[in-house]
Amino acid sequence: MSRFLDTETIAPFLEADHFELAEAIEAFAAEKLAPLGHLEDDAEARERATEVLGLLGEAGWCRYSVPADYGGAAPGIDFVACCLIRDALAAVSPLADSVFALQCLGSLPIALHGSAELKQAWLPKVAEGSAMAGFAMTEANAGSDVKSIETVATRVGDVYVLNGRKHFITNAGLADFYSTFARDEGGEGLSCFVVPADADGYRFVAAQVLSAPHPLGEIAFEDCRVPSSSRLGAAGAGFEIGMETLARLRATVAAAACGMAARALAEAREHAERRQQFGKSLSRFQLIQQKLALMATDLAASRLMTYRAARGAANGERNVTLRSAMAKFHASEAAQRVVDQAVQVLGGAGVLASHPVDHLYRSVRALRIYEGTSEIQQLVIARELLSKTK
Ligand SMILES: Cc1cc2nc3c(=O)[nH]c(=O)nc-3n(C[C@H](O)[C@H](O)[C@H](O)COP(=O)(O)OP(=O)(O)OC[C@H]3O[C@@H](n4cnc5c(N)ncnc54)[C@H](O)[C@@H]3O)c2cc1C
Repeated sequence: MSRFLDTETIAPFLEADHFELAEAIEAFAAEKLAPLGHLEDDAEARERATEVLGLLGEAGWCRYSVPADYGGAAPGIDFVACCLIRDALAAVSPLADSVFALQCLGSLPIALHGSAELKQAWLPKVAEGSAMAGFAMTEANAGSDVKSIETVATRVGDVYVLNGRKHFITNAGLADFYSTFARDEGGEGLSCFVVPADADGYRFVAAQVLSAPHPLGEIAFEDCRVPSSSRLGAAGAGFEIGMETLARLRATVAAAACGMAARALAEAREHAERRQQFGKSLSRFQLIQQKLALMATDLAASRLMTYRAARGAANGERNVTLRSAMAKFHASEAAQRVVDQAVQVLGGAGVLASHPVDHLYRSVRALRIYEGTSEIQQLVIARELLSKTK
């Protein structure tokens, strides 16, 4: 029986081959990632990210981030498989989860809107793990408010010249290319460009240090020149491309939350059974049982919402935006509660910097912020609900 993944609960949303995939990704995580141990700091996360991408690529997991025509594992993108992968990776290695997540996030705009040449240039490399992807949207003055992006793209003949800065960028300074959002100087709103890391005028500025080790940083475009063929979709379509990408992948963030919550629950349950106080194991005390019951229920509800949303995204259903926002909102908030309760069940051991639940406590927090905060998810849910009642 699996220690973290629970395919029985989500069985209605899985195809036959997903059960095998779930076993294989758990075995991979236990065999290849668990021995890497915990990361000390961001510097180690930056060093390890490329190594982890190599492991994921070699084992074929990056193939799930792109369509089959470009070296991918499935004809379209199998969002249920992506969720199973993130669920299993996040339970063992938040860094590996982040590396896989960015292969999806950085390359999906190309898969959805790139020319055949752009797809051929990048997607096979993403699939084999020989190119690391980045997604450059957030800026100092444009977080939740994406339309405030200040990076400017000026068209000069067959070239776009980009000027601006991005911060909070995962894989900054490590990625081989960035799907980059910039204001079209012609006044047509935002456009999205693929900027290779070796483009003239691209610069890694500095790492940004987080409470949980993560390869985050700031990048700059200084008269950065890219051919006009690097634009994805039409001029001015960047905002829609960004939102479409985030809506499709939001359930995978929820899946990472499920993985972290599942690890926390397993650690708490095992500790409660082992640890003796007042002459019996902690698991015999009803206050501890209540915590475990709430944690397990929160996790099961999150998994049902997550895989329902992923199934909908894979099937191209219309209400994917609503379901994904609900899944991301619920699962990331629930994972925070579950991890916090796990720390409580562990007592002092739970706040030892070396303990897995302490690592989860620091890692889980960012899930309520990136790819749309919990507040933004609630606004999306309300907008979808209200638009249906008009
Ligand atoms: C670990 C991590 C990795 C990341 N990786 C990437 C990446 O690879 N690429 C990338 O482009 N970005 C990335 N980000 C950035 C992330 O997407 C942003 O941090 C996020 O969108 C929020 O933007 P902000 O931090 O500027 O917060 P703000 O937008 O300033 O929000 C601050 C607070 O105000 C609230 N708020 C904002 N607007 C409203 C409103 N209308 N109503 C109610 N409340 C509101 C927010 O919910 C939040 O609580 C990452 C962030 C983190 C933490």
